[in-house]
Amino acid sequence: MGKSAVAPLPGRGVSMNDRRCTRVTHGKRCGSWARKGKSLCFRHDPASAKEAAEASRRGGDNNRGAVLPDAADVDLKNTEDVRQFLCHCISQVRRGDLGVKEANCIGILTSYVMRAIEQGDVEKRLEALEEHVHGQR
Ligand SMILES: [Zn+2]
Repeated sequence: MGKSAVAPLPGRGVSMNDRRCTRVTHGKRCGSWARKGKSLCFRHDPASAKEAAEASRRGGDNNRGAVLPDAADVDLKNTEDVRQFLCHCISQVRRGDLGVKEANCIGILTSYVMRAIEQGDVEKRLEALEEHVHGQR
């Protein structure tokens, strides 16, 4: 364990060696690492609070919204379409054009599409079978 893993001892309050943020909100001390030479962390130090808010906003933006805004609509009609689409996505991940999280989401959605395609195939075969049986009566 590195030095950064050492937490201040409980009950000692704030000492000279305490490198944690001293801000107390709703009776609870922040406890994040204080900025170098300061008693407050990146988010609570007024000198960096604006920057911290900006970072939070950017982080929020990264959690939603379009990943590939110019990507064409996807229309997967059969297993070959799915295969080609997944290969395309794999290439995008390898090039860094598509995030791993997004690729995982696409993987899950594609498995739903595959299930729907398989279900459709079974229904078609059943219909054909029923027509054949009824035609023999
Ligand atoms: Zn803090």
